[in-house]
Amino acid sequence: ASKQAGRNRVTFFTEQMGSAANARNTIEQELKTSMENRNFVLHFQPRVDLAESRVVSAEALVRWQHPERGLIMPNEFIPICEETGMIEELGQLVLEMGCEQAIAWHKSGFDIEISLNISPRQFDDERLMQSLRKYSVHPEFPSGKIELEITENVLIGDHDHIENKLEAIAQLGYRIAIDDFGTGYSNLSYISRFPLNCLKIDQSFINQLPKSGPIIDLILTLARQIGATVVAEGVETAEHLDWLADHDCEQVQGYLLSRPVPLERLESTVEQLNAKCKSNALNADTRF
Ligand code: C2E
Ligand code: MG
Ligand code: MG
Ligand code: MG
Repeated sequence: ASKQAGRNRVTFFTEQMGSAANARNTIEQELKTSMENRNFVLHFQPRVDLAESRVVSAEALVRWQHPERGLIMPNEFIPICEETGMIEELGQLVLEMGCEQAIAWHKSGFDIEISLNISPRQFDDERLMQSLRKYSVHPEFPSGKIELEITENVLIGDHDHIENKLEAIAQLGYRIAIDDFGTGYSNLSYISRFPLNCLKIDQSFINQLPKSGPIIDLILTLARQIGATVVAEGVETAEHLDWLADHDCEQVQGYLLSRPVPLERLESTVEQLNAKCKSNALNADTRF
């Protein structure tokens, strides 16, 4: 049983609670309670613009602040939230925390954009538009500085409906990025049709460099054609960074630059990264 549990993502729950079904029930209950108590925090991963040589943005990544078990990563609970529909509630919470953070940074003069992950179910939730409208009329709303990351599967379905919704979101002053680009939907007709500001190349392509080079080049060309920014995700080595810089990839994000950090460490992390960029460490042999 323990061998089997070893392959289970929720091992630490099942070991303490007997049957898998029981454990699952417990997690769902705990998630519900944690939503009410807002026991979730955002960590932030910097995104560096190679031409500007500085951190331009940060992706908000949610963590569950479990009352007894400490910080739990998204892979352990996002799938459960998606299956049960709790993702709509969690998505709302993340959207509120993210927009309020963006407004706070704007007020304090911390010049950085924010990216928020939106799940397919949340995209269909009426409350998404309501909240986006609400924040867009805030006196300190940083127009153009909040980006919503959606995956390609959000774009499956009625294209007229999706186009209208994306246009409405863009009109309010939000940017739209496609996350994990290249791993989902194969019908690319949406690329020229929808208002897309950014393509985030999935990390699976980056960690297969240089073999995956032709695909990355193709995505870079495509993005230039539609005037979208390109971000390479999962940049882990100097070799990755060299290849991407040589091929004029605009922006990079990954462990080589910085892991996601809690809010308290973001400003100092950004300062350090900016200093490295300025001192040209990005172009030296040993960088990070
Ligand atoms: P994602 O949106 O594609 O986020 C990137 C994930 O890759 C993050 O994992 C990040 O920590 C990780 N990562 C960044 N750089 C590297 C690297 O160099 N190497 C490797 N191996 N990984 C790297 P995290 O934080 O565990 O999040 C996993 C996924 O959970 C996210 O993938 C996203 O799909 C989902 N997620 C996270 N926060 C939220 C949220 O607030 N709402 C929704 N709906 N989904 C979220
Ligand atoms: Mg993302
Ligand atoms: Mg991604
Ligand atoms: Mg992902």
